Amino acid sequence: MSTRSEALSAALDKMGLGSDAALVLHFPLRYEDETRITPVALARAGQPVQVEVEVTQAEVKFRPRRQLVVTAADDSGTVTLRFFNFYPSQQKQLAPGKRVRLFGDINPGFFGAEMLHPRVRNVGDDTPLPDRLTPVYPATAGLSQASLRRAIDDALERTDLADSLPEALRRHYALVPFGAAVQALHRPRPGESLRDLDERLAPAWRRIKFDELLAQQLSLKRAHAARRSRDAPVLPQPAQTDGSLIDRFLQQLPFALTGAQARAWAEIAADLSQPYPMQRLLQGDVGSGKTVVAALACLHAVEAGYQAAFMAPTEILAEQHFRKLADWLAPLGIQVAWLSGSLKARDKRAMKEAIASGAAPIAVGTHALIEDAVDFARLGVAVVDEQHRFGVRQRLALRAKAGDVSPHQLMMSATPIPRTLAMSYYADLDVSVIDELPPGRTPVLTKLISAARREQVIERVRDACAAGAQAYWVCPLIEESETLQLQTAIDTHAQLLAACPELKVGLVHGRMKPDEKAAVMAGFVAGDTHLLVATTVIEVGVDVPNASLMVIEHAERFGLSQLHQLRGRVGRGSRESACVLLYEGPLSQTARERLRVIHAYTDGFMIAAEDLKLRGPGEFIGSRQSGQPLLRFADLVIDEALVELAREAADTLLRDHVAAADRHLERWLAGREDLLKA
Ligand code: ADP
Ligand code: MG
Repeated sequence: MSTRSEALSAALDKMGLGSDAALVLHFPLRYEDETRITPVALARAGQPVQVEVEVTQAEVKFRPRRQLVVTAADDSGTVTLRFFNFYPSQQKQLAPGKRVRLFGDINPGFFGAEMLHPRVRNVGDDTPLPDRLTPVYPATAGLSQASLRRAIDDALERTDLADSLPEALRRHYALVPFGAAVQALHRPRPGESLRDLDERLAPAWRRIKFDELLAQQLSLKRAHAARRSRDAPVLPQPAQTDGSLIDRFLQQLPFALTGAQARAWAEIAADLSQPYPMQRLLQGDVGSGKTVVAALACLHAVEAGYQAAFMAPTEILAEQHFRKLADWLAPLGIQVAWLSGSLKARDKRAMKEAIASGAAPIAVGTHALIEDAVDFARLGVAVVDEQHRFGVRQRLALRAKAGDVSPHQLMMSATPIPRTLAMSYYADLDVSVIDELPPGRTPVLTKLISAARREQVIERVRDACAAGAQAYWVCPLIEESETLQLQTAIDTHAQLLAACPELKVGLVHGRMKPDEKAAVMAGFVAGDTHLLVATTVIEVGVDVPNASLMVIEHAERFGLSQLHQLRGRVGRGSRESACVLLYEGPLSQTARERLRVIHAYTDGFMIAAEDLKLRGPGEFIGSRQSGQPLLRFADLVIDEALVELAREAADTLLRDHVAAADRHLERWLAGREDLLKA
């Protein structure tokens, strides 16, 4: 057993591989077959092979750049090796006459077969070939495959690989033993199919994926049980009499709830009357009317003598919610408090006092609401809009605001996540879906137009605005540089101002002070501004029903859900709406596909499904949620059948084999528990 150098320990720690338990579950990305020698002449281009050759010539050349060029041959043919970075030790290793095994791709070059930077091993006359496939692990700079392999070997020797599943259960699901699966993946025998291993189809992979999914299911179910044991204020279902706040609110709303809104509200109201905290995700496409449902939940708390907090991720959005709620609730005599980071110190203090004394029944704000210093007198309901924009910790902090009891939580999202994904990625969460748009909306017409016709588009926008329409002009996303993005917005604003002298052209971007932003938005809402040049700050939630036109520049740079969110800013009133996507070629394959999808579909769930296909679930939501995907091996889409089995097995374990469930969770979740609490 080797002792680790400090540098190695540090590198392992950094990858989360500080413990033996973690190393054992650090499985290879792929494998290399060094158990066989391929004759040089039989190697196929682009396929990694191992050849055994004798060096015939070696020299350092300086043109076109410094490189070590080595010629070597076996009985079947000759191959040229090139190394652009090399050490004296490598030159020695590759001196003429040396016998070496090379591993890498052989490609046809100008002077015949070539290998670029192959891996080199010196061999004697009868050095045996390895009898196992060589694993290639996920690694980082400073952590070589060789040292990782050694560390994992050591860990395998020291670690108890006993099965966490009872034997009968293991057999019932036709799973190979855990220890055997681990050994097979780290040290596969040559008989194993390289393809099954690489594509994660081998029985050993099936076992590991099952175990990972089982751990997830177990922790979900545990979290669910834990929630039911926490106390929450019981907010009794209000009597459906004329006098109730809810009833009066619904009476004076200028519209009736859609069927889907009413359904979602009924589910929420039922949760609120339970003695344990609600944890519900309200999903609904952009414009489906989630806010009014959230307002109902807030009112419900007020009716029962509790407070409600309504949190939004940006100032623009929070401010808009504040206005809307204040408008809706003023006739009922309910005061809505506003709390954001940009308030003057004195106003902020006054707001906090009103919240702490209970004088403010409802508080709307940004994450300022969860700052430590804000205490609620009796928090009953916490609403989190666009919840995926908040970190796990921020959401947990809000939960702690109600003292000994946990407030009921309503999270809202317009990123339509397929149901199974939602359930597996967010721990313990009930889901309500608003799958119907309010009546009277005219679908947004989407046009794809080449940037070469930008001038014409400006003309059209100008005409439309002159005829009374309001439009957004969205500036391109420039991921590399926020400064550049800002500059582009300022330039575009100046340009449109010059091109449309008779129009009032506004500008809003992320670097503006909150009150400047608010003033610009207010001007747009009031209809004073005709054309609003904006960066993606308007992406989330902004609701100006009169705006009916949107132009998005460099649409090819945006992601699908972003385009969908942006487009959702128009088509909110009864006016015919259009969204013009200006694109500039040449388009990458994915960009082309994204534009095709956004042009073809308006339904957010369809778009999300396509997005999922294009990106895969990990990237789709995993990393944004938690910084690292919760699932490393299993894939909720590919392994859907296994998810079902794991769900069933989790029930069995929790019912009949609690100790086994504990063992299993310990093995799989060491150090990762908090990720699952969100
Ligand atoms: P989102 O789900 O994207 O947050 P909003 O809550 O902002 O959507 O609602 C979008 C618009 O639709 C708002 O102007 C809102 O007042 C309006 N609205 C909501 N529900 C209805 C309804 N049932 N009938 C008509 N308009 C509605
Ligand atoms: Mg919204």
